[in-house]
Amino acid sequence: MKNFTHNQPTKVIFGVGNANRVGEITAKYGTRCLMVAYHPSKMSKSQKTSCDELKKHLELAGLDVFIYYGAIPNPTTECVDKGIKLAKKCNANVVLAVGGGSVIDAAKVIAFCSTNPSVDWDLFFSQYTIPFALDEPLNIPPLPLIAIPTTSGTGSQVTQAAIITDTATNQKTGIFHSMFFPKVSIVDPKLMVSVPPQITAETGFDAFSHAFESFINRNATPYSEILSLEAIRLIIKWLPEAIKKGSNLEAREGMALADTLAGISLANAGTALPHPLGETIGSLYPHIPHGRSLAVIYPEFMRFACSSTLDKFATIGRLFNPLLNNVQDEIAAEKACGEFDEFLKKIGLWLSLKNLNIQLSDLENISKIMAPITLRLSPRPASEKDLNHILNHAYQR
Ligand code: NAD
Repeated sequence: MKNFTHNQPTKVIFGVGNANRVGEITAKYGTRCLMVAYHPSKMSKSQKTSCDELKKHLELAGLDVFIYYGAIPNPTTECVDKGIKLAKKCNANVVLAVGGGSVIDAAKVIAFCSTNPSVDWDLFFSQYTIPFALDEPLNIPPLPLIAIPTTSGTGSQVTQAAIITDTATNQKTGIFHSMFFPKVSIVDPKLMVSVPPQITAETGFDAFSHAFESFINRNATPYSEILSLEAIRLIIKWLPEAIKKGSNLEAREGMALADTLAGISLANAGTALPHPLGETIGSLYPHIPHGRSLAVIYPEFMRFACSSTLDKFATIGRLFNPLLNNVQDEIAAEKACGEFDEFLKKIGLWLSLKNLNIQLSDLENISKIMAPITLRLSPRPASEKDLNHILNHAYQR
């Protein structure tokens, strides 16, 4: 068996009703809490009610609470800078994120930078871009971060990543530091019942992509593979149910667990081609949600990557269709691609770049931007020609 390291420094408190314990949990880390949430205009009534209830629990536990309602979907340097300013002004000593990946990512950087006199975004975007590189303790430790996810998709509650868009260039970039791991994540599936069907599908597919890409990755370990496979199994079972009936708490539990397992796996093994490609599409076309930008390129990516890791594709094919247990790996792997197409159709994410209003003339440009990055990727490096092939097929579908 291969030697490996597994890192999961975030304490996960999982289960229905656990969000009510936020006061007692946060009070262990600080007394002045900056709660980071979406802008009220971006929240549904039930999201606002959840935020109000969490605030009450914090106050009952004796904390002073300051709310930064400034996190936006696909958070920008501008929205993070404003949060840091508020954290300093309030003299916050603990940060609480309540929301999806966008809120948690913004809160990670707010917590990280609030103890420093200034933020060096150039340093972040040039030197913090390698997932496993930075794990030295900082001279000035960041504020402790507690995360309460309200979507089941990004796994951000258990990763060292934050995806931030530079307001100046519109470029969306993943930045990484081991100090971005939250101290505690409270994963309460009850908070996810209000997610509408389309966002449930898009975020659920994001979780699938984390489990899948970490599983086929050369950095995968025996530990991360177990987590990835269980996440995929749960998503195949529960995502269609959560889309069909959002109030199905068992389905929400299954998805919240899958998202968390996939996030832990992602934090250890990393992503493959669809993630950087999806993020580049997201930078050029910010109206396209993250899950859609991934789903649109997946069918071609599956066919591109299949031969490089046949046994793993066979394993996944068999999760989709247990009848494939009776056939050889080559056949099960090939069938995995067709089974996956059917799954995408079932969850309403069978898309084309053309339907998403992406210009055909942009495809070559995307390939050019991406090629230096994708040539290093696992499990199969992609050249500019490969990228053109994948994108053109995704356009025509
Ligand atoms: P999001 O946070 O951007 O939210 C999407 C929409 O869902 C928003 O309109 C929000 O108001 C709504 N929403 C959230 N919770 C809800 C609830 N309980 N009820 C009703 N509506 C709700 O979505 P996301 O997919 O969780 O996060 C996407 C961001 O995370 C992207 O920027 C992506 O690049 C990033 N990301 C981060 C990581 C990581 O490891 N840090 C991994 C993958 C993606």
